[in-house]
Amino acid sequence: MKADNREAGEKEEEIQSVLLDRLTGIYNEETFCRSARRMLEENPDRKHVIARVDIEKFRLINDMLGMEKGDWILQTVADLLAETAKRETGWQICYGRIRADVFAMCFPDDKKLTKRIIDRCSIELNEAYPDYEIVLNFGLYVVEDTTESIEMMIDHANLAADLIQGDFLKNYAYYNRKLRDNVQNEQNIINALDEALLTQQFFIVLQPKCRAADGDIVGAEALVRWEHPEYGMISPADFIPILENTKLIYKLDQYVWEQVCILLNRQLQEKKRVVPISVNVAQVDLSQPDLCKVLVNLRDRYQIPDGLLELEITERSNGDAFRPYGRVIKQLQKKGFRVLLDDFGSAYSTLNVLCNTEFDVIKVDMKSISSSNDISSREKALLNSLVFMAKDLGVPLVLEGVETKEQLEMLQSIDVKYVQGYYFYRPMPQEDYSALLSSEN
Ligand code: C2E
Ligand code: CA
Ligand code: CA
Repeated sequence: MKADNREAGEKEEEIQSVLLDRLTGIYNEETFCRSARRMLEENPDRKHVIARVDIEKFRLINDMLGMEKGDWILQTVADLLAETAKRETGWQICYGRIRADVFAMCFPDDKKLTKRIIDRCSIELNEAYPDYEIVLNFGLYVVEDTTESIEMMIDHANLAADLIQGDFLKNYAYYNRKLRDNVQNEQNIINALDEALLTQQFFIVLQPKCRAADGDIVGAEALVRWEHPEYGMISPADFIPILENTKLIYKLDQYVWEQVCILLNRQLQEKKRVVPISVNVAQVDLSQPDLCKVLVNLRDRYQIPDGLLELEITERSNGDAFRPYGRVIKQLQKKGFRVLLDDFGSAYSTLNVLCNTEFDVIKVDMKSISSSNDISSREKALLNSLVFMAKDLGVPLVLEGVETKEQLEMLQSIDVKYVQGYYFYRPMPQEDYSALLSSEN
């Protein structure tokens, strides 16, 4: 009899270990999904919410306080979810731990109930750990399509949760259609890239850089354009960031660099006037181990002399992001490429970027100084000190986004040497650019 009991006990334990999360003892992912599915099926007339709950910056907490404390916190969250479910006697609520610090809940869609769950869990977690600021984030998905898998629903809630990552003022967000459209759009762009490269849907336009004093062309920047057979012209603002996030930008950038080499090579062959052309190099390109080789190979293949192909690098996120790339930038400069710092002043710690890396040219966008075409005296003072700083560093400054005569005259008055912008030229097709250069001669 005793042996039977022990066997039954062991069996029970075995079943539990398959159904329950080892650390917290609440449902694991599989059991949660099954249980949530059952809830939806048994209550077809009710709308339900799938919530994804996670602890903001949990990895940091784990690093700072140690794994054991981290496990304690996870256990506390699991207990809180269990207590919440027990307390809300009028409502059916199921919950589980999906992985690491990610929990999920399923409950009927009722605004007051949702608010109570979020508020109580957050407050009680803080009461349990008064010494630390621990934030619970709730991504919420009101189930529209019950035929979707629960995993997919958690994914939707996840997308909503992404919206509030790092936002200290909000600890919940709802999934909506626009979010989904955005993701689908992202996926469309990623899926379309290879075909677009193969069928030459991408092409370059060139925008001259001019001497501020007389408007003479001293160089140009190549900018990519995408003419999609179905969607028409797509703006770089709509696809560059997506390709940057996935590092696919490297493929497109290489295509653009080659197009520029082909253009320079043609101008050289035809013994036409040639000025340097700069191409954009996405920050993620800098982490490609063969970047330098690719650029040198292109330059060799198209016999482009040193100095004609220039590289513009944007600092998008923060100054620190550049730090590991200082060596790459030096290596590129050693190979004879001039490296321009694009959009200086538009991100955070740009000053430390200038200290750590010796750029050959600094580009400043008028938009980062002034949002309107009228420049205030403060903005002029700021520009003036930028000009001084660049002079002190011995680095030429290019002001881009110059649109009006007033802007140009102001820049001339503070001795800005080079400008780029609609005032002189808009980006133009290759043929127009080549013709313009020749006519200037
Ligand atoms: P960016 O490198 O700062 O390029 C300057 C942008 O400002 C271009 O927009 C240009 O058309 C625009 N612009 C030039 N003058 C004026 C002006 O006077 N007024 C105004 N309002 N705008 C002006 P575009 O071509 O739409 O490119 C946007 C951004 O997309 C670029 O900013 C660059 O970061 C990125 N991008 C463009 N082509 C490439 C590329 O081939 N590779 C990579 N990685 N990024 C690219
Ligand atoms: Ca640029
Ligand atoms: Ca720029």
